[in-house]
Amino acid sequence: MASVLCFKNVIFGGVRKIKNTSFLLFKQASIQSRTCPFSCGGGANTEYDLVVVGGGSGGLAAAKEATALGAKVAVLDYVTPTPIGTKWGLGGTCVNVGCIPKKLMHQAALLGEAIHDAKTYGWELEPDNIHHSWESLKDAVQGHIKSVNWVTRVELRDKKVEYINGQGKFLDPYTITTQTKQGERRLTAKYFLIAVGGRPRYPDIPGALEYGITSDDIFSLSKPPGKTVIVGAGYIGLECAGFLRGLGYEATVLVRSIPLRGFDQQMANLIVAEMEDKGVKFEHRCIPKSVQKTDDGRLHVVWQNDKKEEFSDIFDTVLFAIGRRALTKELDIEKAGVEVAPDNEKIDAPNEQTNVPHIFAVGDVLYKKPELTPVAIHAGRLLARRLFGGSTTPMDYENVATTVFTPLEYGVVGLSEEKAIERYGEDNIEVYHAYYKPTEFFIPQKSIVHCYLKVVALREGDQKVLGMHFIGPQAGEVIQGFAAAMKCNLTVTALMSTVGIHPTIAEEFTRINITKRSGKDPNPASCCS
Ligand code: FAD
Ligand code: NDP
Repeated sequence: MASVLCFKNVIFGGVRKIKNTSFLLFKQASIQSRTCPFSCGGGANTEYDLVVVGGGSGGLAAAKEATALGAKVAVLDYVTPTPIGTKWGLGGTCVNVGCIPKKLMHQAALLGEAIHDAKTYGWELEPDNIHHSWESLKDAVQGHIKSVNWVTRVELRDKKVEYINGQGKFLDPYTITTQTKQGERRLTAKYFLIAVGGRPRYPDIPGALEYGITSDDIFSLSKPPGKTVIVGAGYIGLECAGFLRGLGYEATVLVRSIPLRGFDQQMANLIVAEMEDKGVKFEHRCIPKSVQKTDDGRLHVVWQNDKKEEFSDIFDTVLFAIGRRALTKELDIEKAGVEVAPDNEKIDAPNEQTNVPHIFAVGDVLYKKPELTPVAIHAGRLLARRLFGGSTTPMDYENVATTVFTPLEYGVVGLSEEKAIERYGEDNIEVYHAYYKPTEFFIPQKSIVHCYLKVVALREGDQKVLGMHFIGPQAGEVIQGFAAAMKCNLTVTALMSTVGIHPTIAEEFTRINITKRSGKDPNPASCCS
């Protein structure tokens, strides 16, 4: 009775107030019986304990965990082809058109640099005669992705998660419908999980959809991208520009406002300066106006700066990296009564529970949560444990570490300097910083001018660390361990009393001793240790 009451409140108002109560009720629901707790329209009994819409990072993690806890689970996954017809298999964005192909192409670009470095280390190569084959790289990357798609399918079968290759749409709050090769299917469940992720946005300018591509297309592009303009200076824009330049293509980035908005701006500007040194061009405060095909099949791009001055150039590829939109509309989400944020169609779901208590959401579809694979996976797993394993552990979205895989990587955990000042006041913040010299850079005489790190901390007592920022090789590997330390309330005192591993780049964090406030030179004192 209480549950029925909850649901009525959701439909007729009082949504926020009722949420936590209903969450507790569901937590206690037994998975022994799949009786619908709402005396639902589809009848008293539901076919599944959990139906997951979206077989990406978050959806698959939740589905596998729920099945391991004894739940009967189905996952629907479907990919709508891009405007130029690119499509892919099971596993979602990260595996097919995100983290994995991006990291592989980043690695390909780093190897190009390494070939040049190798000569200085005694390898007898002729780097000037070494050429890169886009086709070979693309085939290798796509081959790896296909194998992951296959392994994912086998894993689902072994774990007894039912996989349905179909686009899910809500028919009502208790029923999802989908068209499969075998015909229409209707699925009822005790709980639903929306894990549909997002897809790249296109700007509303002439020629964008006809001639532009996005990150959904770049990793499987059949011909070399050639001279490329990248629109957008977020994660994806900078990462793509970085590996394209590293593979030998001309790359120009159109920056609408500032690079890497939301990140520490001192670090973001160092990343841009490093990329400029590597040959990436940046057009600041510019937005695209049009894309037209030229007679010889190339692309004429016009853009405008904030003074309304127009510029143009000819490119082979136009890559839009202007953010992503959540795929909630395609889900007929309004038929389920799930509310979406008016500004970007994402779902605001505290504790991953939507305003409709038996419908949950994880991953990129969530409002104002980090769009990162480990976040989606962790939240999905924890949710499954709460629904089916008696757990009460919520997802902690604070201090999630991340890395921007630009040619010189930028790894970060915690607050930017700006955010720390905004939150605690400048007088209460201490910032330690240092430029450093990676040992590996000496022999090839690689530029060290942007190898920089900083630690943002509270000023009082042992100086609790609020944020750690690192620009350099393997930044993700460096920051990951410090993220765990920050979870354990790392202080500057503890950091300074940690004995480093020499010679590494991560040890630079244990050597910090110069504060910004002191005005002392943060450049390294000696040449080679
Ligand atoms: P997704 O992985 O997007 O999965 C959603 C799935 O649901 C998709 O397969 C989609 O086709 C399917 N779907 C959608 N609607 C329906 C429907 N109605 N019915 C059935 N199926 C549906 N994160 C990192 O942590 N590190 C990185 O280095 C990194 N690099 C990235 C690089 C790029 C180029 C991009 C685009 C993203 C990157 N990300 C990275 C972000 C990461 O990929 C996402 O955060 C993650 O994939 C989100 O997982 P998800 O489960 O929310 O959604
Ligand atoms: P972001 O939101 O990070 O960046 C979008 C960029 O496009 C911004 O520079 C924005 O400028 C610009 N932009 C937006 N609209 C327009 C427009 N109409 N015209 C011109 N420029 C525009 O989105 P991304 O697509 O780069 O990445 C999406 C998410 O994917 C990230 O938030 C991240 O979580 C995830 N990701 C993670 C990676 C990793 O972990 N390494 C790698 C890649 C992606 P402005 O600042 O002015 O709004």
